[in-house]
Amino acid sequence: MTVNRPQPRPGVLDISPYVPGKSTAPGVAKVFKLSSNETPLGPSEKAIAAYNETGRHLEDYPDGSAAELREAIGASLGLDPARIVCGAGSDDLLNLIARAYLKDGDEAVHATHGFLVYPIATLASGAKPVVAPETDYTANVDHLLAAVTPKTKVLFLANPNNPTGTYIPFDEVKRLHKGLPPHVLLVLDAAYAEYVDRNDYESGIELVATSENVVMCRTFSKIYGLAALRLGWMYGPAHVVDAINRIRGPFNVNAPAIAAGVAAIRDSAHVERARAHNTKWLGWLTQEIGKLGLTVTPSVANFVLIHFPETKGRTAKEADAFLTQRGLVLRAVGGYKLPNALRMTVGSEEANRLVVQALKDFLGQKA
Ligand SMILES: *Cc1c(COP(=O)(O)O)cnc(C)c1O
Repeated sequence: MTVNRPQPRPGVLDISPYVPGKSTAPGVAKVFKLSSNETPLGPSEKAIAAYNETGRHLEDYPDGSAAELREAIGASLGLDPARIVCGAGSDDLLNLIARAYLKDGDEAVHATHGFLVYPIATLASGAKPVVAPETDYTANVDHLLAAVTPKTKVLFLANPNNPTGTYIPFDEVKRLHKGLPPHVLLVLDAAYAEYVDRNDYESGIELVATSENVVMCRTFSKIYGLAALRLGWMYGPAHVVDAINRIRGPFNVNAPAIAAGVAAIRDSAHVERARAHNTKWLGWLTQEIGKLGLTVTPSVANFVLIHFPETKGRTAKEADAFLTQRGLVLRAVGGYKLPNALRMTVGSEEANRLVVQALKDFLGQKA
């Protein structure tokens, strides 16, 4: 039956809307939100001051090219600002990439537990998401390459991945790139790159600089603590930058975000503090939660994936309810096909200790 009213393009109604992490615990006075990988340190004080200053000039359009921000990012990482595009969060850029490079009938590959924005952006462009199996909750290059067909136009790889926290070494990223046909765009989503403390990891800058079919997306939402402002950026070959600049909103990044982003990227001491805090507590949480008999997937990001048994009274769902009653809000990841796990953002010392104690109580292993 054809309904006589406007119809969205094919694929749109196949999208399961993105469900953000919850942020409340009804009836609890003090809530620790550990569900959206936000930094417990907050943004740089300098970024807050720069943001406040822009409040005096809300009548002015922002610089549509975000030149000052692209220059600050370029100076901080040694990149050509002309090869950077800023967006309203990396979500904006991931969707623009899909819109520019996918059409009806195309395919875009991602790994089983890849970030949910990838299938959403793919379906919204009329293309088909193709899922490649993982090994031990980690992207598998052989499986990703096996999923590529003549219809594949984009391959999305979050490295490290959310919600698993795992990564693949740069050698493997290069092997993936080598195995791709040159017309497939490899999108390296490095939202958590700043947190990774591994010698064999690279965010992908070198690969972008030396090829024609790789882009890297980054965000100010995580270590920089500016999630509320919606700010991300991508680094790509000139021809991809040109295509994205043609279709992005002419003022897709707002002035307070530009100002705060410039100050944030220049405040390397703040980033260093956030990184040191994370390294310390990521290790602590992995160890302490492991001691309780729960499996924690080894993470290099700012969160851990905690696996629960299916035994009644011990399930992820029951743990989530128990923790929420104490104001400890973690992320249920059933939408990521991980119904027996919870994702926990590395929080403040207080939050981290409270979660470990609560899990101990939940499992009935009072020390
Ligand atoms: C948080 C996150 C992002 C960042 O999204 P923004 O739109 O920049 O807030 C991108 N990719 C992954 C995998 C993430 O977890």
